[in-house]
Amino acid sequence: MLVDVNVIAQEMKKKKSQRKFTPVFFIFAILGWGGYWFSPYLLDSIPPILKVGKLIDQEIYSGKIDVEIMSTDPTHRSTGLKSVTAQIDQDIPIKLEKRKRFSRFYTNRPPAPFVIDTTNLDEGFHSITVVATDKSRNRNHSQVQYTFFVDNQQTRIETLPDLISAKQGQTSAIFIKTSEPATKVKARIFDKDYSCYPIKVDSSQGYFYRLLIGVGVQESVGIHPMMVSMTDQVERVIEKTFFARVGRIEFAHGGYVKLSPEKKKVMMDKSKSHEDNAKRWEAYNQANKTAGQLWRGHFIRPALGGVTSPFGKYREYNTGVKRHHLGIDIANQVGTAIYVGNSGIVTLVDNLHIYGKTVVINHGQGVSTSYNHLSEVKVEIGRQVEKGQEIGLMGATGQVTGSHLHWGMVVNGTAINAEQWIDQDFSYDEEILGQ
Ligand SMILES: [Zn+2]
Repeated sequence: MLVDVNVIAQEMKKKKSQRKFTPVFFIFAILGWGGYWFSPYLLDSIPPILKVGKLIDQEIYSGKIDVEIMSTDPTHRSTGLKSVTAQIDQDIPIKLEKRKRFSRFYTNRPPAPFVIDTTNLDEGFHSITVVATDKSRNRNHSQVQYTFFVDNQQTRIETLPDLISAKQGQTSAIFIKTSEPATKVKARIFDKDYSCYPIKVDSSQGYFYRLLIGVGVQESVGIHPMMVSMTDQVERVIEKTFFARVGRIEFAHGGYVKLSPEKKKVMMDKSKSHEDNAKRWEAYNQANKTAGQLWRGHFIRPALGGVTSPFGKYREYNTGVKRHHLGIDIANQVGTAIYVGNSGIVTLVDNLHIYGKTVVINHGQGVSTSYNHLSEVKVEIGRQVEKGQEIGLMGATGQVTGSHLHWGMVVNGTAINAEQWIDQDFSYDEEILGQ
């Protein structure tokens, strides 16, 4: 057999190159495949998608909060999620157990449920931070943070005493105790709103407020609802209804006030009494705007003399008018010194048609006193006066039959009997509640 050497040499050359080519191809193929496989690990710079649902930033929560966490590593060429973690207040880490819920790609997988039990947390502000981290060399991560307020304490409102009782023409001091500090406490009774003023009590038992209610002489006897509303530190309003029992007072009847024809004419002039009342009530309202208690201790009797007409007496005038006497008449000679019943600020000095020369004192927290029919006034409007200070002289100015002081007292818009304030100490000091 004749063999062509050249052909053999060519064949050999061919086989040689084939032998070399195969391993090189496999090396490159493995490197390429490996490179493709590992490149996301090295090159992935896209952070995972992280969404936290059902949680509202700055919201107030109590009990258990159901939170939904959804996380995916966004692209096909990404590495996938390594972890999704949650942390409360930067120091309580929580590993989210249901890793399988978090997907590598976009899927219809439901979000992972997560429960925050706020009963394990202190009252007040807290934060939750959720972090999703991928498997890449960069450890790309997304973070979501929420701040929330925990308010688990059921706010309690109580009154002291728990049975509120009041009488026609009298003042009743009601203490309100709340389990949380309030920014505002109000009460509504007899279709009127009353401010409740905070009281400083060194007590771990609660927070105390006081309101003074004035019961009108004609207020209906029986049970009246009293609604107390408190606004807490997160502007939440909590309301509770209490009941107050109004008892009857048998006011004296009788007495016929016979005014001279001239005085009778002034008395019957509606425009004049309206003018007087507008000025008086504007002065009394000043006390509703004064949160401080300006009086201290018992009130004093403002003048020497006999009581000629007690508070609440049902009298008839020769004008035909029949009404309760909403003050105390103390009679003495013209020029008898008039002393202020307690400390306060002068809110009215005027010569009124019916009440004559009048001084109104604001004692704060809705409490005012008035001194009427004076012959001379010794104080100026806006001045501060001290308990027992001489503020004027007794007289017979205005529509009266003789020299006397008409001493009036108003508590939160209602005329009440000032004598109760001589007998009873309505000023607050810590000993009252401590007992
Ligand atoms: Zn009077």
